[in-house]
Amino acid sequence: MKTRPIVPAHLQWTDEGVPFSDEFDDVYHPAAGALEQARHVFLAGTGLPERWQGRERFVVLETGFGLGNNFLATWDAWRRSEQRCRQLHFISIEQRPLTRDDLRAVQRDASLADLASRLADAWPPLTPNLHRLSFDDGRVELLLALGDVAAWLPELVAQVDAFYLDGFAPAKNPQMWQARIYKAMARLAAPGATAATWTAARSVRDGLVSAGFDVTRASGRGGKRDITLATYTPAFMPRRATARKHAPTASREALVVGAGLAGCAVAWALAEHGWRSVVLDRESAPAQAASGNLAGLFHGIANPQDGTHARFNRAAAIATQRVVEQAALTRGAIGSVQGLLRLETSGTDAASMRAMLAQQGLPADYVAALDAADASRSSGIPLEHPAWFYPGGGWVRPVELANWFLDRAGANATFRGGVTVHSLHRIDGRWQLLAADGATIAEAETIVLANAGDALRLLGHPSWPIRRLRGQVSMLPATVPLPRIPVTGAGYLLPEVDGMAMFGASSQPNDDDPTVRASDHAHNLAQLARLTRTAIGLASDSIQGRTGWRWSTDDRLPIVGAVPDAAAAAVPGVRLDQARFVPRLPGLFAFTALGSRGITWSALSAQALAATICGAPVPIESSLLDAIDPARFITREARREANRG
Ligand SMILES: Cc1cc2nc3c(=O)[nH]c(=O)nc-3n(C[C@H](O)[C@H](O)[C@H](O)COP(=O)(O)OP(=O)(O)OC[C@H]3O[C@@H](n4cnc5c(N)ncnc54)[C@H](O)[C@@H]3O)c2cc1C
Repeated sequence: MKTRPIVPAHLQWTDEGVPFSDEFDDVYHPAAGALEQARHVFLAGTGLPERWQGRERFVVLETGFGLGNNFLATWDAWRRSEQRCRQLHFISIEQRPLTRDDLRAVQRDASLADLASRLADAWPPLTPNLHRLSFDDGRVELLLALGDVAAWLPELVAQVDAFYLDGFAPAKNPQMWQARIYKAMARLAAPGATAATWTAARSVRDGLVSAGFDVTRASGRGGKRDITLATYTPAFMPRRATARKHAPTASREALVVGAGLAGCAVAWALAEHGWRSVVLDRESAPAQAASGNLAGLFHGIANPQDGTHARFNRAAAIATQRVVEQAALTRGAIGSVQGLLRLETSGTDAASMRAMLAQQGLPADYVAALDAADASRSSGIPLEHPAWFYPGGGWVRPVELANWFLDRAGANATFRGGVTVHSLHRIDGRWQLLAADGATIAEAETIVLANAGDALRLLGHPSWPIRRLRGQVSMLPATVPLPRIPVTGAGYLLPEVDGMAMFGASSQPNDDDPTVRASDHAHNLAQLARLTRTAIGLASDSIQGRTGWRWSTDDRLPIVGAVPDAAAAAVPGVRLDQARFVPRLPGLFAFTALGSRGITWSALSAQALAATICGAPVPIESSLLDAIDPARFITREARREANRG
């Protein structure tokens, strides 16, 4: 997916106080009429609240978030509804989102004021991403896709029950109402999906009919003008790619192997969907292996190409910021989200860095470029390089974060320590986890392998390009002033944690030595001196350290998704050109290779995996899901084969 800068809506007000868009030369619906329109056209028009009654989940997809009135009205109706669905997912696509300040300034019906204020509090930085905003303990999820509707629809992974076609009038905003929009809607529609729009324009009705919808006219509010209602009744259902079909099990239970950040995060994300999981680990407590460092950092990336890697890291960093903020509220000193500096040591100056950000349209509440003087001021220590400042970045104690994930999952997650999974075995449609003596530890229809490199052994060593990198961090009593926020570049230095200065880390491939080595400390100290230039006067005689192993893929992205069925993929004629088409082993999922970014990646990856397992809308775009899919290696190999042939 090619991203474009997000330009916030330039909100104007008419003399009567009605919000107005000069770009589309059209008004937004005024507060007085907006709620009624949302209820009459969109909720009643798509059969709500009756259609969500008694259901596990209900998915609404809206084109044009605008002032957010339809979302707020739907959320409000869900809260008042007696037999509401357990989870409400509201996906909305908006090319010109409001700024947080404008969102707060919008006049609302009094009944929506509280929800509107919660929406404004959760409003994301306006980056071209799918932003996940979670309310009411994850039971209401807003997936806000910022960008062009035609680009976003093919990127969504969801089964939609109701479409709200809103946005400015077809005559004023023809871009949004193109014929291909309706085809893309059909690809997302669940059987019997409904659609509603306030326009009765001929082109809209024709577009819906051509995509397989039965269309009727109905009278609008007060019988003033006709609206269009539709139901999806196609002659045949479009086929879905193998990895996008979901057949969630009736039991809604999973076994998770590994209680590091990955395993604990997936238990939390599954719990939000109402799934129970048992998290097994050979250690007696969670997060004792790679996830056991005193602290680590998290942040996004800015890159002129804005390719897959930058997009995934940005989405992941924003998700982690939300999680750490929430965790800090309930668990205390878990870490900090007061920003992070990434030094630019390539010789590029702050003006060129700012020019790049302006070209990409990345907002200052995601990333800003600082010259060395400003970077020094914000960190509180002298720095000689300009820096990327990530206001939503920070540091966290991974052990605390892993335990917070389990706490949040509550009764839906059980930790079982001291259990080593030796092998796995499929029998009668269920997976069994076996101990070294062949005894069955536990069995379930759904298994998540979140046990870092050992997942590869359990899977029979698939030919995934993964490296094992030993790393050592160094710690010293904090005897001198340390930065207020993490400083990173080649190496990193954290603010004081538990009276210690923590910095690192070394990196050696294929090195199994678990001892803490003086040579690695020397490396970390030398790196620290280069990073801060003003050799921080730490007394190196009381230095401490910890070693761990990172498992990294050659494309520097994690492995998250259903495990491919290599035998089925080897059958001639099976489509392998995109990861999503590769056949899968039922109920078996991998969540590994978090490399040196597990803190940044665990929350978003877990949410994407849990949504895939449960059949909920996936909070990352389809192309990113392909990019982290374990089947991507089969696809690449198939491409190489084709090129050779
Ligand atoms: C030195 C160093 C510094 C780092 N700094 C940062 C940083 O600043 N920021 C950042 O984002 N990331 C950082 N990382 C990376 C981050 O720590 C990892 O990506 C992350 O912890 C990986 O989490 P995980 O759950 O995949 O693996 P782990 O935490 O290793 O968890 C795997 C779990 O599986 C269990 N297990 C394995 N096999 C079995 C089995 N057969 N049966 C039962 N249990 C099993 C293990 O006991 C373990 O608890 C750093 C890593 C290192 C080594």
